[in-house]
Amino acid sequence: MPDINSPDLISASAPAQSKNTRPAEHHAKLAQTHVKAHVKTEKLDAGLYLVATPIGNLRDITLRALDTLSSADLVLAEDTRRARILLNAYKIKASVTAYHDHNVAKKLPSVIKSIMSGKSAALISDAGTPLINDPGYKLARACIDAGLPVFSVPGASAVLAGLVSSGMPPDKFMFAGFLPPKFAARKRALEDVQNVPASLIYFETAKRITASLEDILTVFGDRQIAIARELTKKYEEILRGTARELLARIKETPLRGEIVLVIAPPNAPEPWDETRLRTALRPLIKTEGVKRAAAQIAALSGHKKRDVYAVALKLKNED
Ligand code: SAM
Repeated sequence: MPDINSPDLISASAPAQSKNTRPAEHHAKLAQTHVKAHVKTEKLDAGLYLVATPIGNLRDITLRALDTLSSADLVLAEDTRRARILLNAYKIKASVTAYHDHNVAKKLPSVIKSIMSGKSAALISDAGTPLINDPGYKLARACIDAGLPVFSVPGASAVLAGLVSSGMPPDKFMFAGFLPPKFAARKRALEDVQNVPASLIYFETAKRITASLEDILTVFGDRQIAIARELTKKYEEILRGTARELLARIKETPLRGEIVLVIAPPNAPEPWDETRLRTALRPLIKTEGVKRAAAQIAALSGHKKRDVYAVALKLKNED
């Protein structure tokens, strides 16, 4: 999570800082000079605004997020102290109130009431996109059920930042939050998804990464994995390798910081060779005919229907 007092804050891509300023001060200063001029404060439509905030580098905030935070009647924050650090960095004065897992029952009805009366409420979490393993789902759902507008103000999320830098196929992916901390539940959770034909994304902690990798190795075998650590921060690092290779590496140098784990999809099975195709097709052609036999075998063999049909036809003509 972003902490502007932390020396980790600035990523390598941030502009150079003067020798006399601490990274956090430099960062906040840049934010104020370059962005403040663009912030628009204006009356927002009534509704709930789900506002993404940086996951490390404070400059990863969108101009629309700043507009929304400076314009909303109410800013709801998972942690008001952290929210103030962010708002102060951008010189935004806002009325901030706590909204977290422990005060939902108390807070939710009053927020709904405010929005019903025409107010705008912006929800932020400690870092990244609210609702994604962060508070907000019950509130968004309650707004929807009450017919109130819910707006997304998109921006950073560790999920997509981790995926795109992992080197794993991004065309199909499944994000599954944190793996359970206890061994039996974690193993079950992994068994449930071991055949999902997609890249798998998990949030992970430095404390549990070794145990999780060991279980991944047991359940999935030695798949390719990327560990994306401290994304957008000073010590950002992506480790890539098989589960076994990464375990060996971590044993030598234990990991620190925040982690996204991305696991490669299972290898697609090799398509059948012609001998296997012919063996499967021969009896089926007799009972089902060429067309249906080809369709059935195409579904199993990893070949296109058209190609299996050509083999089936050849077989029939040979007999
Ligand atoms: N809602 C947030 C989001 O959209 O990114 C995620 C909140 S979740 C409670 C926090 C977890 O996200 C961390 O434990 C870590 O697994 C991951 N995470 C957050 N920031 C990260 C970063 N800079 N680098 C790597 N992982 C991060």
